[in-house]
Amino acid sequence: MTALAVDGLSVHYGGVRAAHDIGFTVAAGQSVGIIGANGAGKTSTLKALMGLVPRTVRSIRFGEHDLTRVPGRKMVRYGIGYVPEGRHVFPGLPVEKNLLLGAYIKPWKGSTLDTLDEVYTLFPVLKDMRHRLAGALSGGQQQMLAIGRALMSAPRLMLLDEPSMGLSPKLVEDIVAVLQKLNRDGLAILLVEQNAKLTFEVTTECLVMENGAVAMTGTSAQLREDPRVRQIYLGL
Ligand code: ATP
Repeated sequence: MTALAVDGLSVHYGGVRAAHDIGFTVAAGQSVGIIGANGAGKTSTLKALMGLVPRTVRSIRFGEHDLTRVPGRKMVRYGIGYVPEGRHVFPGLPVEKNLLLGAYIKPWKGSTLDTLDEVYTLFPVLKDMRHRLAGALSGGQQQMLAIGRALMSAPRLMLLDEPSMGLSPKLVEDIVAVLQKLNRDGLAILLVEQNAKLTFEVTTECLVMENGAVAMTGTSAQLREDPRVRQIYLGL
């Protein structure tokens, strides 16, 4: 079953065409990647999906819902979680308060405390630091917190923008393991990354964006063997 189906999504900032006529689908429980160089239009595509930048779009469907005209701030109600580039945790609030804010809009009835327990099981370090201010966490811990906060709304699909940014190779491996586990447990993922290697480890299909447009699509297994992708995006 298709979870997310996007058709004809475009973003312009004044005269700058950041993304043009982007279309893709993410099946329920699938993990899809969008890779591309700095400035290719990946972040704009995600932000446009979440209604955070002015956009034009032919249609956005999520399961049985037509979200084409639903404002971005309401997307979470339908089961879409968003982990923005740069994490955007609330630095002056404790870790646990940051997490609870993620459950402020909860599409499902389940217990917030059960979900908090699940997040703490996934990220024990957040439990250990639950009374610390989020601003005191390391970059990697803040990324875990941003993912945990998005999980607090019990999403069926999670959009992640460059979760590996600024993290050490070891922490990037931790993020890969977390995303693989979440996906195995049934969460659909749309992952935007400059790090193609990470993306191929987490996803089954990918789009390659260049100059605001989709330049290539394919299975992650095919793309990781593609000579052009190997040269430009994997540095091989
Ligand atoms: P990165 O990996 O650096 O996040 P990206 O692939 O996500 O890059 P975008 O951030 O979507 O790319 O940027 C696409 C294009 O839109 C770039 O040319 C960028 O300079 C431009 N752009 C992005 N945000 C704005 C803005 N607020 N105003 C004007 N131009 C912008």
